[in-house]
Amino acid sequence: MRDELEVLLYGHPMLRETCVKVERIDDELRDLAAAMQQTMIQERGIGLAAPQVGHPIRMLVAEQRGPSGPGAICLVNPEIVFFSHERDSYNEGCLSLPEIYADVDRPVRIKVRFQGLDGQERELEDDGLLSRIIQHEFDHLEGTLFVDHLSLLRRRLIAKKLKAIASRARQQV
Ligand code: ZN
Repeated sequence: MRDELEVLLYGHPMLRETCVKVERIDDELRDLAAAMQQTMIQERGIGLAAPQVGHPIRMLVAEQRGPSGPGAICLVNPEIVFFSHERDSYNEGCLSLPEIYADVDRPVRIKVRFQGLDGQERELEDDGLLSRIIQHEFDHLEGTLFVDHLSLLRRRLIAKKLKAIASRARQQV
């Protein structure tokens, strides 16, 4: 079994980088995607972006329930090409921000264009949990974290927790 990847914590500079486009979809990338999926499952997450495991490239994995149970989908070079006007709020968490949860307001429906791990261009539309996960993970590719969407007041309320996580992040290289 492959080793689990280390998830970088809030405060680590890589989480603030704008990630670069994936130019080559090869076995190395597919291995990374598989390791990310495994890490996501082991850490009980429902999504994970490549910068969170130390790779500042445009790739994310998200939980997707299929007819045969839970599975995961991998999006390479995702582009959100449509956002609905309708928005809603959902209690989000993040593997890079352990034990922090907050309601985040986002568009309900999105359409996303991406490449699969076979290099094929695909499009996906969703208005459920998958839409939410993709928007959260897409933010990571731009160096944005879900706490950035919170009001100043809400952020003040979690400031101590954020500081504690950031001091743990300083031990990560
Ligand atoms: Zn996250």
